[in-house]
Amino acid sequence: ERMMEIRRQYCNPMTMKVTYYKKPVYIHQGHMQWLWDVDGRRYLDLFAGVATVSVGHCHPKVTEAAEKQLRKLWHTTNIYVYSPLHEYTEKLAATLPDPLKVIYLTNSGSEANDLAMLMARLHTGNFDVITLRGSYHGGSPLTMGLTSNAAYKYPVASGLGCHNTMCPDVFAGPWGGSNCRDSPVQTIRDCSCPQEFLCWNIPLIYFRSSITGSCTANDKYIGQLNEVFATSVASRIAAFFAEPIMGVGGAVQYPKNFLKDTYKLVRERGGVCIADEVQTGFGRTGSHFWGFQGHDVIPDMVTMAKGIANGFPMGAVVTTPEIAASFAKGVHFNTFGGNPVACAIASSVLDTMEEDGTQQISHDVGTYLLTELAKMRDKYEIIGDVRGKGLQIGVEMVKDKASRKPLPPAAMSEIFEDTKDMGVLIGKGGVYGQTFRIKPPMCITRDDADFFLAVFNQALHNYME
Ligand code: PMP
Repeated sequence: ERMMEIRRQYCNPMTMKVTYYKKPVYIHQGHMQWLWDVDGRRYLDLFAGVATVSVGHCHPKVTEAAEKQLRKLWHTTNIYVYSPLHEYTEKLAATLPDPLKVIYLTNSGSEANDLAMLMARLHTGNFDVITLRGSYHGGSPLTMGLTSNAAYKYPVASGLGCHNTMCPDVFAGPWGGSNCRDSPVQTIRDCSCPQEFLCWNIPLIYFRSSITGSCTANDKYIGQLNEVFATSVASRIAAFFAEPIMGVGGAVQYPKNFLKDTYKLVRERGGVCIADEVQTGFGRTGSHFWGFQGHDVIPDMVTMAKGIANGFPMGAVVTTPEIAASFAKGVHFNTFGGNPVACAIASSVLDTMEEDGTQQISHDVGTYLLTELAKMRDKYEIIGDVRGKGLQIGVEMVKDKASRKPLPPAAMSEIFEDTKDMGVLIGKGGVYGQTFRIKPPMCITRDDADFFLAVFNQALHNYME
C-alpha cells in the first residue's frame, strides 16, 4: 500500500497503469526465469520485462561481469578509449553479416530507432518513412510517429503545421485470417491528424494486422504496397522499418517473401531497409540469432535494445560503412552510449548466450510451446490463432472462431489475472489488446513450459465455465 501511495504521489502517473488491476504484483527479487513478490510468492516469468531479460534474471555470470566492471570504471564517455567498448563492438559485429559492421551504441530502443531514422534521411536525402500497421518502434517524440497504435501517440497540436499530404496514411492491408477474406483493399486517405495527433511530418503507411490467421497472400500485400507507392507517398522514400516478427503488435508474422519483396521495392525507390530487432534479436526467434535471417534479407540497418544487456539500459544501431560515412558529416554525441558497465554486461550476455545455448533453448522450448498451444487452439473456441517463432509467441484470443472478433478487454484481464494468481506472468498485446504474449527469459525448461500450459489451460477452463 505504501508503495502504491508513493507511486501515486511521486511517479509518472502512467506507472499507475499497472498490468494487474485487481491486485498489482509487488516484485522483490528475481533469479533466472523466476520472480518473487514481497510476500515470497514465486512466479514463472514468461514476459521477461517485455522480452528484455534474455539470459535470466540476475544471471550469476552476467552479475559477476557487472560487479567486476563497477569496481573498475563506471563512466568516461566515448571521447576516450576504453577496452569494454572495443571488446564489445568487435563481438557484436561478429554476429552480423557483412556489410553490417558499424555500431552506434545508445541507451534504449527508441533512441536507436530515432538515430536510424535520422541516418536514413541523411543518407538518402529523402524524407518519407514507411512502417507497418500494428508495429511498435518506440515512444520518443519521433519514434512515436513510427509506432502505429494510436494508444501510444499523444494528441498535441503540430508546431510544424499539418498538411493532409504529410499525415499518417493509414493503409489497411490485412495480413490474414478474417481480414484476408473480408477486407477489401482499403486506403484511408483522409487523415485524422490535424489538431488531433502531431504527425511529426512523417508520412507513414501502416499495414493492418488484427485477427490474423495463416494467410499467405503475399502478392496481394505487395500489390497494395505498390498502390501506396503510386498514390500516397512521394516516389522516393527514406526508409522502411519493420520488426521481423511484430512484438507489441502480437507476434504477427508476414507472408513468406513479404519482407524480401518489400525490401526490393523500397530500395528501388531510393530507401534503406531497417530491421527493428529490439524484440526479435539475440536468438529470440530460435532458428536464427537475428530475426531478419529468417526472411532471407540483409537490412541496411539493424536496431536493437532490450535483450542486448539482459535488462541493463542499452541499445544500438548497426549499419554499413557507406551509411555511416553519410552520417559522419555531422557531429553525433551520446554521453551514456557505450558506457563501460553496459558494454561489460552486454559482452557477458553474448558469452552467456553461447555457453548456455539460449538460442537452442528458444528454438526447442518455443517449438514445444507452439505445438502444445496449437492443440489448445483446436480445443478452445476462444483461441483464434497461435503464432510466432522460438520464444516470441502470441496467442490471439477471439469471441469465437466464426466471428474472429477480438476477445473483449475484461475477458482478457480475467484470464490474465487468473494465470498470474496461479503463478505465471505473461504479457498482453495486439492492436485490440487481444493477444497474450509469451517471451520469457531464454533459460526456461520444458518443465516450465508444462507448468505454464497446465496453468493456462486451467485459466481458460475457469473462464469458460
Ligand atoms: N522497437 C520495438 C520492436 C519494441 O518492442 C520497443 C519497446 N517495446 C522499442 C522499439 C522501443 O524500445 P525502448 O522502450 O527501449 O525505447
